[in-house]
Amino acid sequence: VVDEIGVFLGRFAGRGFGYYKSLRNVVFDYDGVKAYFTRIQSDPYAPPSVFQIVVPGKIHGLKLKGYGKNDYLALSDYLYRRLYSESVKYRRKCGSGYSCFLGVPKPSPIMIYRSGAEIVGEDIVLRIFIGLPASGRRILVKPLNHILSVIIPRIINKFRNMYRCEEEIWERILYLRDYLYIQKLLEEENAVAFIANNSVLPRESSISQKPLANAVPFRVEDRFSREIRVPSGKTVYGLIIPRGLTVITGGGYHGKTTLLEALQDGIYPHIPGDGREYVVSRPRTVLVKAEDGRFIHRVDISSFIKKIPGGGDTRDFISRDASGSTSMAASINELVEVGVDNILLDEDTSATNLLYKDEYMSKLLYDDPITTITQLARSFTEKTRTNLVIVSSASSILLSKAGFIILMRNYKPTIRSRKEMGLVDKLPDKQYIPPRERRVFRGIRGVKKIRAKGSKLILKYVDGIVFELDLKNNPRIIENGQVKMIATILKWIIREKINGSTRELVETINNVFREKGFRGFTSMVPPDLGWVDGLDVAWTINRLYNVVFEKRPS
Ligand code: ADP
Repeated sequence: VVDEIGVFLGRFAGRGFGYYKSLRNVVFDYDGVKAYFTRIQSDPYAPPSVFQIVVPGKIHGLKLKGYGKNDYLALSDYLYRRLYSESVKYRRKCGSGYSCFLGVPKPSPIMIYRSGAEIVGEDIVLRIFIGLPASGRRILVKPLNHILSVIIPRIINKFRNMYRCEEEIWERILYLRDYLYIQKLLEEENAVAFIANNSVLPRESSISQKPLANAVPFRVEDRFSREIRVPSGKTVYGLIIPRGLTVITGGGYHGKTTLLEALQDGIYPHIPGDGREYVVSRPRTVLVKAEDGRFIHRVDISSFIKKIPGGGDTRDFISRDASGSTSMAASINELVEVGVDNILLDEDTSATNLLYKDEYMSKLLYDDPITTITQLARSFTEKTRTNLVIVSSASSILLSKAGFIILMRNYKPTIRSRKEMGLVDKLPDKQYIPPRERRVFRGIRGVKKIRAKGSKLILKYVDGIVFELDLKNNPRIIENGQVKMIATILKWIIREKINGSTRELVETINNVFREKGFRGFTSMVPPDLGWVDGLDVAWTINRLYNVVFEKRPS
C-alpha cells in the first residue's frame, strides 16, 4: 500500500516502458479509498491501462440498504455519468500514443449498467482508463505523478459524502420505478408499448441522440389517451399500442419511421431531458430488417417459404449468403425460438415480397413459394403471443389485417379502425406453424480471436477466415460498450463451453449477469462494457460463421 505517491514513483524515473508492469496491483490509498491498476498496457500505443477505484460505503455515504435491486440501475447509471463528466475534464495528451489519456467512453442517454461504475456489496467500484505516460518507450514520471496525486484525488472527491446528491439520485430512481411499472402493465395486457403525450421522438440527426429542437411533441387523440397512475404519484397520459398486429401508415416524411424507432429505443429507460422518458416498450422488442448476405444455421423457415428452387429444405434452412426474404424469415423464427414480446418491421428496410402481395398477384402467382406476413400475421400473433408492428403505406392489403392502425399526419397520430377506413379483409389467412424442432447450440468452431472494434465484432478463425459482423444491424444495440460486452460474453461461452437451446442460452447469460454482474464473464473487467440482454448475444450467435446447431424435437 502506497501513501507517498511521489516518493514511490521515483523508482520509475528514466526506466523503460516494460517497468510499468510492476505497477500492477500496487494499492494506492486515498484517505480510505483504495485504488490500483488491474491491467497494464504493453506500450504507449496499446489500449490504455485499467485503474480500479473502490469507494467503501462509509466514504460514499449512500444508504444502499434503502435501495431495491432495480434501483441500482438508476444509481449505477448516475455514478457512471458522474465519473464520465468528472474525468473528461482531465483528458489530455502528453508524450506518445495514449500517454495521459484518462476516462471512460461517453454514455448515450439510455440507462444501462456499465462496467465503469458498478455497485459491489456496499462499495462503489469505479474503473477508468489511464494511458501510462511515456516518450517513445521511456517512462514519464512527472505526468504520472500529476495523474495519481492530483487528478485521481479530485475524481475520488466527487464520490465522497454523496448524501449531497441523494435527492438527485432519488428522482431518477422514482422515474425508473415508474418506467418499470408501465412495462409491467404492458406485460399484463400483452400490449406492445406506451408512448406518453408530449414525448419528443425525433433525434437531432442520425448520428446524434439529442432530441430534435422544435419537434412536434407526440400527442394522441383524447379518446385513445390512456391514463396511468404511476408509483411516484404522477399521472401520465398517452397511447397504449395493444396486442396483435398494428400497422403504422401515412404519407412519406410524416414521422412513421421515427415512431417505430422510438418503440425500439423504448426498451431502455432514458435520462431526464431526453424526451423519450415515458416511451416504454416491452423488454423483448426487436426491429427486424432484411439482411442480405447473413448466415443462417438450420432455421425452419417453412411457414414463410415452402421451397427454394435448388435451395434445400426450408424446414432446416442453411445459408451463407441469405436473400432479403430468407434472412427476414430466419430472423423472425429465431426470435420465436427464444421467445420475444414484439417484432417491429419497416417496409423501407424489409423484403417486400415477404410482407405482402395484393389480391391479384396472389391469384397470378399461385405457385409462389412465399407465404406473406400479411397472410400469416393473425395466426402468428395468436400462436406465438408475439405482437407485430409494421410501418407500411404501400399496400392496403396489410392494413386490412391490422387490429390497430396508426395513421401519421404531420407527426400527429390518429387511430383508425379498419371499418372507419372502409377496409375489407378479403385475403384468406394462412396458418403459421412455429419451428417444429428445437435448435441446440453446440459451440462455435475454430475461433482464434474475438474483438470489438467500434460497432463491429471481428472474429478470426483457425482456417484463416476473418469474419466481421456489424452490430448496427441490431437496433437494440446503442453503445459500443455493448458490442464489447457481446465479444466478452462470446469468449466466455467458448471458454466455458456453454451450450443449449437459444432460449436456455439467453437465460443462462441473464442469470449470470444478475448474480455476478460484469465479473461473471471476465476476471479482468475493463471500464468500457455496457449491459446487453442475453437475447442480443443469441442474435449475434445466429449470424456468425462456423456455428454448430443440432436439432431436437420441440
Ligand atoms: P416517414 O417514415 O413517415 O417517411 P420519418 O419518420 O422518416 O418519416 O420522418 C421524416 C423526417 O421528419 C425526419 O427527418 C424526422 O427527423 C422528422 N420528424 C419526425 N418526427 C418529427 C416530429 N415529431 N417533429 C418534427 N420533425 C419530425
